[in-house]
Amino acid sequence: MKQTTINHEFVELIPDEIKEGILYISIPFATSTHRCACGCGEIVVLPIRPAEWELIWDGETVSIYPSVGNWSLPCQSHYFITKNNIIWMKKWSTSQIKAGRKRDILLREKYFEKFKNKNKTSE
Ligand SMILES: [Zn+2]
Repeated sequence: MKQTTINHEFVELIPDEIKEGILYISIPFATSTHRCACGCGEIVVLPIRPAEWELIWDGETVSIYPSVGNWSLPCQSHYFITKNNIIWMKKWSTSQIKAGRKRDILLREKYFEKFKNKNKTSE
């Protein structure tokens, strides 16, 4: 069954048993793990890094940006986690997935480029 909400839990280490409906967040390891919100049971790992996912904790709820696109899973679910709510998005077509991946790669390259340039100027 599709979930419409998710609870978060801050942990040191991601536990071996990933319960459904819980977003495990490890600050020391800059990562998060949850079971796909569509109910398929697959485990989704989202690294929290500037070029990957951004985590916002407002003291009560968490949001993760950009959206979670489980293109590599059979369910291909696509949703946002916003203030502990699951906002379901339309599934992407194959060409949209390709375009999205390309954009991700470009963003990542841009980010690391910026980083490299920063290092250069500080020399
Ligand atoms: Zn799923």
